[in-house]
Amino acid sequence: MALIVQKYGGTSVANPERIRNVARRVARYKAMGHQIVVVVSAMSGETNKLIALAKEVMAEPDPRELDVMISTGEQVTIGMTALALMELGIKAKSYTGTQVKILTDDSHTKARILDIDEYNLKQDLNDGYVCVVAGFQGVDEFGNITTLGRGGSDTTGVALAAALKADECQIYTDVDGVYTTDPRVVPEARRLDKITFEEMLELASQGSKVLQIRSVEFAGKYKVKLRVLSSFEDEGDGTLITFEEDSKENDMEDPIISGIAFNRDEAKIIVLGVPDKPGIAYQILGPIADANIDVDMIIQNTGADGTTDFTFTVHKNEMGKALAVLREKVQGHINAREISGDDKIAKVSVVGIGMRSHVGIASQMFRTLAEEGINIQMISTSEIKIAVVIDEKYMELAVRVLHKAFELEEA
Ligand code: ADP
Ligand code: ASP
Ligand code: MG
Repeated sequence: MALIVQKYGGTSVANPERIRNVARRVARYKAMGHQIVVVVSAMSGETNKLIALAKEVMAEPDPRELDVMISTGEQVTIGMTALALMELGIKAKSYTGTQVKILTDDSHTKARILDIDEYNLKQDLNDGYVCVVAGFQGVDEFGNITTLGRGGSDTTGVALAAALKADECQIYTDVDGVYTTDPRVVPEARRLDKITFEEMLELASQGSKVLQIRSVEFAGKYKVKLRVLSSFEDEGDGTLITFEEDSKENDMEDPIISGIAFNRDEAKIIVLGVPDKPGIAYQILGPIADANIDVDMIIQNTGADGTTDFTFTVHKNEMGKALAVLREKVQGHINAREISGDDKIAKVSVVGIGMRSHVGIASQMFRTLAEEGINIQMISTSEIKIAVVIDEKYMELAVRVLHKAFELEEA
């Protein structure tokens, strides 16, 4: 007997028939004698609909009230999934984030899980229930409803698996595993039987939406056995996220590049002509951090005439807020020549642990983009990743040509 957490995404619970399908799979696992915790997302499109509704009333919705609204999508699907299980004669009970007590911090719309009270779930599991838990939501110490950021149900699933010390966390979605890149953009993309945790972490952080980054972080921290599978197929092992030690034996055969990620969600903030002196980066980015705005790439040019240019990227949703912070709190101290934003950018990243032992990956990437006439605006690298910011309109082309150049398509 194993304890398994199964997370089903929005397309997997998009209508009553698909929810019945989820219930049938859960029933099969239950019949094998396993204890099952199910985590569900809202029906696909529902969270977007709720955000749009909020924006009709307030252009930049108050985050606390937005969370109250967007957490309701999952409340519908937990009830429906529990009902579908009962219809199959299975004991089932739904839980909102508050009812479990998935305690988070108070960063509305992007809260972090601090603690999970697993006591009630454990009791119910031991009493033979399937526990159906709402993804994406939690509660802060004052009882306010919080949400975990888009795609956050993955994180609910993995965090629950960690808290319950589950034997496996299965992420069921509309693709049958993790691919070399998004198969919607490159139909030739190839499914990976396994991928190292480090690579998955980079792919997720660079925008591969198949797993939310925080879910991968949790899996790494608590060594959760994590697998991505299709909810539309009954066969197949999907993709297993491995920890490097387990896959070392294959090092020689492993490809240098495992995957390509892309992200259209960032915007570039450009601060031109600031004094080139100690403390400038802090003066610019300190207030941005204080405003709880996450910064991704940062570039500072070498100064020429005593001034320098400073560019960084933030989430598109936070471009307006970042520009306001700079204009209101920073410009008075730094007297920049110009402060502007550009949200027509995209980031494309190639990821692979093989990069550690191979030189020339960056130049191959840059040559491939140059041959297509694609201009690179920013570059950042880590030991296992090279990321470039380019004009948004060339993003899909860039992903396709890189996928080909690094020979990632089906053999
Ligand atoms: P869910 O609603 O089940 O959470 P998501 O839409 O969040 O599903 O994630 C699954 C989608 O992720 C796929 O349909 C696919 O388009 C996209 N995706 C992006 N990169 C990858 C990748 N490398 N491998 C597989 N899917 C990917
Ligand atoms: N329903 C939420 C979203 O659309 C959470 C999730 O699906 O993981 O982002
Ligand atoms: Mg998702």
